[in-house]
Amino acid sequence: MTDAPAADAGPNTEIVTCDACPVLCRIRPGRTGACDRYGNFDGKLTRVDPILLAERTIDQNGEMVPFLQNDWSGNPVQPSSLFVTGIGSGTTYPDYKPAPFIVSSTIEGVDMVTVVTEGIFSYCGVKVKIDTDRYVGPEQAAVRCRGEQVGHVTTAEYGSQMLALGGVRHLTGGSKKEGVVTCEMLLNLCNGGAAELTVDGGAALTVQAGKPPVINGVQEHRMRVGCGSATIGMFAKQWHGHVDEVIVVDDHITGVLTEHQAGRCLDMPPSGIRVRGRRSTPGRYFQVAEPGTGWGGTDITDPLTIIEKIDPKIARPGLRLLMVSTTGEDSAWLVLDDTLTPVPVPMPEPMVRVVERIGENCEPALCTVLFMAGAGGSLRAGVTENPVRLTRSVRDALTRVTCGGAPVYVWPGGGITLMVDVTRMPANAFGYVPTPAIVAPIEFTLRRDDYAALGGHIDWLQPIEAVAQVDRKRVTLWHAGNPWPLQESG
Ligand code: SF4
Repeated sequence: MTDAPAADAGPNTEIVTCDACPVLCRIRPGRTGACDRYGNFDGKLTRVDPILLAERTIDQNGEMVPFLQNDWSGNPVQPSSLFVTGIGSGTTYPDYKPAPFIVSSTIEGVDMVTVVTEGIFSYCGVKVKIDTDRYVGPEQAAVRCRGEQVGHVTTAEYGSQMLALGGVRHLTGGSKKEGVVTCEMLLNLCNGGAAELTVDGGAALTVQAGKPPVINGVQEHRMRVGCGSATIGMFAKQWHGHVDEVIVVDDHITGVLTEHQAGRCLDMPPSGIRVRGRRSTPGRYFQVAEPGTGWGGTDITDPLTIIEKIDPKIARPGLRLLMVSTTGEDSAWLVLDDTLTPVPVPMPEPMVRVVERIGENCEPALCTVLFMAGAGGSLRAGVTENPVRLTRSVRDALTRVTCGGAPVYVWPGGGITLMVDVTRMPANAFGYVPTPAIVAPIEFTLRRDDYAALGGHIDWLQPIEAVAQVDRKRVTLWHAGNPWPLQESG
């Protein structure tokens, strides 16, 4: 990435000025601007990448879209099965003119419009969900890339650690290097690449959308089956009769079977084994150890260290104890000897099977990357002369918003603040400009009469058939998991 226009100002009259972003690159003939998205070809400002059209072969009912259902026109692409994405469409920043493509189509007798553009987002970032109970770092800790802070650790979710990366403060509110590194990291993650990150006071991470996380050089395989208490609830009946006590080690809630409601329901007598930590409710303990990368997201490698005491009035020699983590990756079978000391012995087969079942019930550990951005600014002016009507139309579900054809979640409340799973978008859908900001495709699809009612640029409509004929296009297969946006909304 460069952070300055690639071409100098000079006397060359063939230089063209790109007005697609505030950088206003002056581009020499045959060269591209600072973001490589626009070039000066034959003296014309040209979007370098072709516009991406997505073609579906299966309709919403799961039926094959009839091939050549229209009269043969010499073009094998069928307009009725095409969706025009924002990828490669271009930008009309600062949206003093209509969006690059305003496309009309008729779907099952309903006239629809899709407004297509590449948005430039300073207010944007990614939320990263990392399926692991291993400790990545303290909440609020700085997350760094190449030494620059690019985000922070945010509140953990059930079985997952969460990062909030990017955002306007790191993109534009810090040093120039911080902004450049943040932009590169976001672009890389959004386009499916891996990011190498470190957490202050925590772990080194490799995260990549749809791939297992790597924590301190170790690839994670399993997401925990549940917290220690949930694990007790799920497997208590399968343990019953084979064991006298089970301790499920977990950084959140460590479960103790005979104290837990599940053990009581099975009439299991107390074992006399007491674990460290703060007792929450019967058989559920917080803070049995420090967070870490050991058993169940704690820092322990020897599970016996969490046993505070064994009550000689209740415990007895021969008592059978299972200690296991919430993924089943760590387990120990112990029997109390005559001094009531837990002694490791080989685990009996029925218990091995239940430990394996814990692992079987763990889902694969993955990283999820959701791009989050605010589309409530000037971008709306490329859609309508009355921007707030677009916001209302989105809120009223009359207008469907997609990014590269992928469905988005629009936050309730003001503005058009959206989130989208980058793995549902076509490859390399994102770009950047060196302000720095992220460029992302965005499409607004609605009925033509609704578009007219919100003050849309009706005069700029072009039929899908015309867009299907443009030279500068690329056609890809529709992502089968995404809903077809051209169905009538509402
Ligand atoms: S950086 Fe901005 S002005 Fe320069 S070529 Fe890219 S879009 Fe155009």
